[in-house]
Parts: sequence; structure tokens; C-alpha cells
Amino acid sequence: MATDLEIAVFKVKVCNLEHHFRSLLPMKDTFTHKGMRKRLVTTLQQKGITNKAVLAAINTIPRHFFMDSGFVDHAYVDKAFPIAADQTISQPYTVARQSELLEIEKGDKVLEIGTGSGYQTAVLLEMGAVVYTIERQNELFKKTKLFLSKLGYRPKRLIFGDGYKGLEEEAPFDGIIVTAGAPYVPKPLLAQLQVGGKLVIPVGEDVQIMTVFTRTAETEFEKEEFGEFRFVPLLEDKN
Ligand code: SAH
Repeated sequence: MATDLEIAVFKVKVCNLEHHFRSLLPMKDTFTHKGMRKRLVTTLQQKGITNKAVLAAINTIPRHFFMDSGFVDHAYVDKAFPIAADQTISQPYTVARQSELLEIEKGDKVLEIGTGSGYQTAVLLEMGAVVYTIERQNELFKKTKLFLSKLGYRPKRLIFGDGYKGLEEEAPFDGIIVTAGAPYVPKPLLAQLQVGGKLVIPVGEDVQIMTVFTRTAETEFEKEEFGEFRFVPLLEDKN
């Protein structure tokens, strides 16, 4: 006879297996999903997004793949949502606005700080950027690395590290995008910009001001501000 403990352990194993197999099922992108994406694109246009490459990317990428299967219904509303390791997938409007503010062209070299779910990474790749992306949470880093390759999205490099330091060995970048709230502007990120390049970074503690620094000359930066946003914090060191 099996003891209660053995039965409990068995139940947990079955449950884990179910979870495992569900994650192996092919992900479906139906006409309903496509329709919902079109509506999301219209919403973003109404909110002021005009960049064609950004809108096309959002129209193409199945955002519901980037969320746990139970939350598919939330994928195409303009809201942020929880992912693994207490982090969030940014609100579509925020992703669109930051991507637009980067003002990149096909083939530009872009550094992303905060890979998270990989959704923003996918948007940049769809826009034709060569993407380097850094994530400080090991659990998320491993999960997203596997997931992006499964979808066929290939960043030039996916790095487990601390984005405060940027990525010196691959600098300079045409654009740097920070997808977590920075209490201050990390100096290395400004230093790793190409002349003409832009750093798009939400700056602040509780509320962040979307800030764009353009490197206008070797030692000159222009600063512009684009309103309030709320992000999870940019944290020092890896975890
Ligand atoms: N671009 C992501 C947004 C995720 S939220 C998406 O589209 O889903 C912000 C992410 O930044 C989190 O995953 C968090 O772990 C990561 N992060 C926070 N501080 C960091 C740092 N110093 N370096 C790299 N990543 C960091």
C-alpha cells in the first residue's frame, strides 16, 4: 500500500509532467489572435504611435506566446503583465513608444537592457536591428534564450549580466534601450553610444520619465523628455 506521502509525491510528479507536456505543445496563432493584434495596432495608432516598422512588428509578433498559457486573453490588451521571476512584460504602448524613440534603421546595432520575456527583443529584430540583449535574472535569461530560439528570433547575443555596465566589448551602439526603471543614468551606457545614436531610458524611482539622450558629438549629448511611465526597477548586479 502506498502511504499518503507517497501519493502526495506522485500527484506532484503528475502535475509537473502535465506542465512539462503543455509547454511542449505547439503554440497556435489563430485568426482570432491575428484579429486581436490588428485591433491592438489600431489602439496604438490612436495613442499616437506612427512608426510603420514598429506597428508592423507588433502586428506580426504573437504576443500571447510570450505569456504563460493561462493568460492568453490578456495578451492583446494594452497592459503590462507578470512573467517569471516577479518581472513584467511591458505594456504594448510602452514597447512601441520606446522602439519609436530609438529612431533606428534596418541593420542598426542595438543594445537592450532587460531581456525579460523577449517581446521587446522580438520587436527590435522584426524592425531589422542587430540586437544585443542583457538580463540579470538567471531564471528568465535561460527561459527566454530557449524560447526565442524556438520561435526563430535570433539576437546577435543574449547575455546574462548586469546592464548597468552596458556591453563594452561590442560598443559603440546606434541605439540603447533600457526596459527597467533606472534611478540614475548609468555612465557606461552614454559612453557606449555611437555619435548620432540614442539612449532611450526611463529615469526615476517610483515613477519614471522617459528620457532620450542623443550623442550629438564625441563629448556632447542632447536630452529630451517624453512623459511618465512605470517600470520594474533596474537593479544592480546579477541574480
Ligand atoms: N523588455 C522586457 C521587459 C521586462 S521588465 C519585455 O519585453 O518583456 C524589465 C527586465 O529588466 C526584467 O526582466 C529585469 O530582470 C531586468 N533587469 C533589471 N535590472 C537589470 C540589469 N541591471 N541588467 C539587466 N537586466 C535587468
